[in-house]
Amino acid sequence: MLARGRGLLAAELMTRCHAPNCNQPATRKCAGCEVAYYCSPRCQRQDWPSHRRLCKMVTALLEEFQRVWSALGRMIDWMQDVNTVVYGRPKESIAEASPPAPAPAQTSGGQITS
Ligand SMILES: [Zn+2]
Ligand SMILES: [Zn+2]
Repeated sequence: MLARGRGLLAAELMTRCHAPNCNQPATRKCAGCEVAYYCSPRCQRQDWPSHRRLCKMVTALLEEFQRVWSALGRMIDWMQDVNTVVYGRPKESIAEASPPAPAPAQTSGGQITS
């Protein structure tokens, strides 16, 4: 799952060394975020003071992405379960399921400001 997010971000940044003033083709990636690419360990060390903050941000972002992604996966699983329950069982089971509660009658309209 995380690899997917990293892949998306990496596609934006890879191919060229992330260090400023270095446009070499990059072959190494940052072990922290795995998003920033460098041509050499030297460039990575040079860029680290400025990359450090971004590295943390990217890592946090990817963790968040993974959380959302797995939550989405759980939701899809749940929806498939519901699907199975509703359409994959005899009618008696459906009757047992409680119908959605009717919307409460709203007593609004008293908020007239004049
Ligand atoms: Zn470089
Ligand atoms: Zn990094």
